[in-house]
This record gives sequence, C-alpha cells and structure tokens, in this order.
Amino acid sequence: MIKVTKIAVLTSGGDSPGMNTALRAVVRTCAYNKIDCIGISRGYQGLINDNFKPLNTRSVRGIINRGGTFLFSARSNAFKTKEGRVRAYENLIKHKVDALIVIGGDGSFTGGLIFQNEFNFPVIGIPGTIDNDLYGTSHTLGYDTALNTVMEAIDKIRDTAISHDRLFFVEVMGRDAGHIALNSGIAVGAQEILIPEENVGIEELIDSLKKSKKAGKTSSIVVVAEGDRTGENVFELAKSVEIEFPNYEIRVSVLGHMQRGGSPSCFDRVLASRMGVKAVESLLKGDSGKMIGFENGNIKLTPLATAIKGKTKIDPELIKVSQIMNT
Ligand code: ADP
Repeated sequence: MIKVTKIAVLTSGGDSPGMNTALRAVVRTCAYNKIDCIGISRGYQGLINDNFKPLNTRSVRGIINRGGTFLFSARSNAFKTKEGRVRAYENLIKHKVDALIVIGGDGSFTGGLIFQNEFNFPVIGIPGTIDNDLYGTSHTLGYDTALNTVMEAIDKIRDTAISHDRLFFVEVMGRDAGHIALNSGIAVGAQEILIPEENVGIEELIDSLKKSKKAGKTSSIVVVAEGDRTGENVFELAKSVEIEFPNYEIRVSVLGHMQRGGSPSCFDRVLASRMGVKAVESLLKGDSGKMIGFENGNIKLTPLATAIKGKTKIDPELIKVSQIMNT
C-alpha cells in the first residue's frame, strides 16, 4: 500500500449544490491530517491541461453556502481517449499526487474507474448530482437542495394556477430517474406525477384530470420528469390533454437549470462535509475504487462499478402515497 501524502480533487460533469461544501471538507481534512491537497480546475479537462493549484484551509473560506463549484466543472471528450488519460496520469505523477477524489455523477465515476484500472491510480468518488441516480446512496449531493428549489418554484406556479383556474404541466429534471418529480410532486400536492420508471399512459392521465375536475377542482398541477415518455415531450403532452379539456386553460412551465443552482440546504451541507471527510480518510486507509454514500443515517462505501451500474429504484410506497393524495 502506498503512503498517501498528496491528494488531488476535482469536480466533473453537471454541477450541483454542495460541491463547494464537499471541496471545503476535502481540503480541511487533508490539512487536519497534515497532507497536501491540490485542486484541479475544470474536471478531467484540467487534469489533461495541467490546471493544478495547491489548496489550503484559507483557499476554501466563504464557500460553504455557495452553489456551483469554485473549481469549475467541465465535460472532457479528451478524457474518453487513452491518449488524454495518459496525459492526465503524467500530470498527476509530475505533481507527485498519490490519489484522486472525483466529485461528480455516473459519467465522472465511469471515467474515474477506467482511469484507476488503467494506471492503478487510487480514485474515490463523492456523488455530486441533483438526479439522485447512483446506487449505494439514498441521497446524492445537491438532491435535497434541488427538491426544495423545485418545491418553492411550483408553490409559486400554484398561486397563478389557482388565480386563473389553470392546469399547469411543470417539467422538472430527471432524464432517467423520477426521484425529483415524485418527491417534489408529493410535496406540492400534484394531481399527477409522471416519471420515466412508471408508464401512466395518456388515457389514465386524462381520466384522473377529468375525475378531479368533476370533484370540483378548478386548477391542477401535473409534475413531469423530463425523461417521462407519456407524450413526445411536455409541450406535446399538454396539447394532447388540451383537446380533451377545451374549457381548461393549460400552461407549460419548464423549470430547467435553475434546479441546479442556489445555496445548498442544511442537509446537503452536512452531507457534503461528512462525505468529504470520509473520502480523505478512506484514501489514507488504503481504500480506493469506491464511492462515498449515505444510507440509513450512516456514511458508507460502495464499489464505483456497483454505484454506476446499479439503478436506484423508485420507492413503491411513495407512489402509493402520491396516488392516495390525489383522490
Ligand atoms: P456526470 O458525471 O454528471 O454524469 P458526464 O456524463 O458528462 O457527467 O461525465 C463527465 C465526464 O466524465 C465526461 O465529460 C468525461 O470526461 C468523463 N467520462 C464519462 N464517461 C467516460 C468514459 N466512458 N470514459 C472516460 N471518461 C468518461
């Protein structure tokens, strides 16, 4: 086992609230353990372009509450090539780095795992993504903040929906996973929640809306995950429903990138701090090729390969709750 005396850290892929807090935790845990920490700007591309800068406890002051990532994030096609990864490895060796912490999503972990296997270079992952789509953690960093952002936005949309007797289709993030849609949908009292994991079907959706109208509801919110395929897309879906409800004013709202921004919630800040500490401690103990996760209140490790491949499941109890709530 090599003695780890210098750790590099980067943020990669889609940014998420809590990445800065995790960076702060990594840097300060290195300082606590009297080892060096190096920050790499712009993810794997920075690794290839030699964008390395030493970090100390003062480098991370004032960022605990800031969204985004002060190291910047990036997508790197060059890292997908062997040639790019060789350059990345050479730079790490040049700077005498012993191990790498990657804060990112499943794409970043795929790259990190390939890199570790190719060069026998220790990599640990911290799950930073709002999608909550990694196996081995009940919460990814930024997910809780995104849920609160979505809930607040839909609460505001509801004010308009009620004032004008409108039916709103609100599209939220989640190309492959419906976690944001299902949880925020329950939190805002949505009439229907459409997620990629469950195929409701247009007829059932129309039936449900008809029932709620009959029951006296004059406005409704339908939360749609961007990966849902009930319609071609949320606008086409709204058009198909509009034909059935000529007297209903229908509007579509796509929340978009605002879901990724903002100051991390208390939950995400505590989680990021715990994960950052565990990431450094794991490398110091000789662990690698693993993702730091959070389950049943505890911080735990899952092999990166499992975290990437295993799909997180939608909790059937949550589906049941959402169905009971819209009766
Ligand atoms: P996320 O980490 O948020 O899922 P991406 O899927 O865009 O984001 O991945 C981030 C980066 O990880 C990519 O730009 C690329 O540099 C690296 N990466 C993703 N897949 C691979 C792969 N198969 N091989 C090497 N690197 C990869």
